[in-house]
Amino acid sequence: MLTWTSDVRRTAKPTTVLVTGGAGFIGSHLCDRLVQKGQRVICVDNLYTGRLSNIRPLMNHPYFRFIEHDICNLLSLAEPIDRIYNLACPASPVHYQKDPLGTMKTCVLGSHHMLELAREKSARILQASTSEVYGDPEVHPQAEHYVGHVNTLGPRACYDEGKRAAETMFCDYRRLFGLDARIARIFNTYGPRMLENDGRVISNFIVQALRNEPITIYGDGTQTRSFCYVDDLLNGLELLMESGREVDGPCNLGNPHEITIGEIARLIIDQTGSRSTLRYHPLPQDDPKRRKPLIRKAEKLLHWQPRVPLEQGLRVTVGYFSLRVFAPDEKEVLLPRPRVASKQRSRRVPDGMDGQGVEGIRLSKAPRAKCRPVS
Ligand code: NAD
Ligand code: UDP
Repeated sequence: MLTWTSDVRRTAKPTTVLVTGGAGFIGSHLCDRLVQKGQRVICVDNLYTGRLSNIRPLMNHPYFRFIEHDICNLLSLAEPIDRIYNLACPASPVHYQKDPLGTMKTCVLGSHHMLELAREKSARILQASTSEVYGDPEVHPQAEHYVGHVNTLGPRACYDEGKRAAETMFCDYRRLFGLDARIARIFNTYGPRMLENDGRVISNFIVQALRNEPITIYGDGTQTRSFCYVDDLLNGLELLMESGREVDGPCNLGNPHEITIGEIARLIIDQTGSRSTLRYHPLPQDDPKRRKPLIRKAEKLLHWQPRVPLEQGLRVTVGYFSLRVFAPDEKEVLLPRPRVASKQRSRRVPDGMDGQGVEGIRLSKAPRAKCRPVS
């Protein structure tokens, strides 16, 4: 990992923070940070795209607890909760489109459950929204006041519209109940712990390059994205969560450095010294042509700016994937055996996922003796 001094100071008194989606890519890094800062973390995840190996180093920490749970179902917790980061939702188009109804339910029903929990506990809550709320934007770059251009009927709509509806609920809970609800509109984020099979461009290209396989460019590669390294995003998320209540409405968090998909392919080929060639495929339906955040609001109100240059963040990410691709022994992780008869066997597991199962265990109390390797 790149290490940068975070702008977010260690909190004076330990708070209890609920992180939904905490076993996923961004969520697991957030759990790491919060625990390191002395906060009590409850990680809730249904392991749809999350991995226990992401949170394994935290499992026996006294301030960390894992609950396997689908937020589409009610969650009742006895203890006080101070903060809720609602990150639960698959982020990769491949995964969110595989179960569109599940995605929509997670965004709408799941967010509603978390908002109710926040209300019950008088907790502050932050929603991980997305640049996808801008759809295939007709305005460039995208500022928070742009209302977007989303196809409500296309294959991306389950995610885009689900996240839009969640934003609406967050605003209504603030208006109706005075709930301290915040919305981060996250732009494309990358870094270690992305899934190698999740279909996102950075993970796909790096894995293909490392294997000297053709790089799959969708369309002609002139579409653009702006990629933010995960450490930078986490700084922004924490600052948004801990900012004053006057920070109202959605806040873009992303790196404004815009780059074409073709350029990203060449950069990754250069960095990996790969012999990969470029192979062109049809552009998926509704694939946004250009995306770049305007981050004036975050700069002004949070004093936040991304600091990790793309080349540098990619180098770290390539290092991570090299281990996963070339050193299978290195990536083996030991997980506690399932010990509880399944109450929640209906878990959705996307293609290619390992489907490891620890059912409803509070892992800080899980048995340590019996372990099994997971690839
Ligand atoms: P991820 O798929 O790695 O993590 C999502 C986590 O949520 C996984 O651990 C998954 O198992 C869990 N999850 C999914 N549905 C759930 C449910 N119903 N109940 C409980 N857990 C559930 O994705 P990520 O990249 O870490 O994204 C985290 C959040 O940030 C998501 O809400 C995503 O929409 C948002 N976001 C991410 C990006 C990005 O580029 N990574 C961009 C914009 C927004
Ligand atoms: N993309 C690509 N090849 C791939 C994966 C993605 O050309 O193997 C393109 C995709 O069509 C899109 C961009 O890269 O234009 C970013 O895709 P990703 O799924 O990472 O994120 P999103 O489309 O959600 O921004």
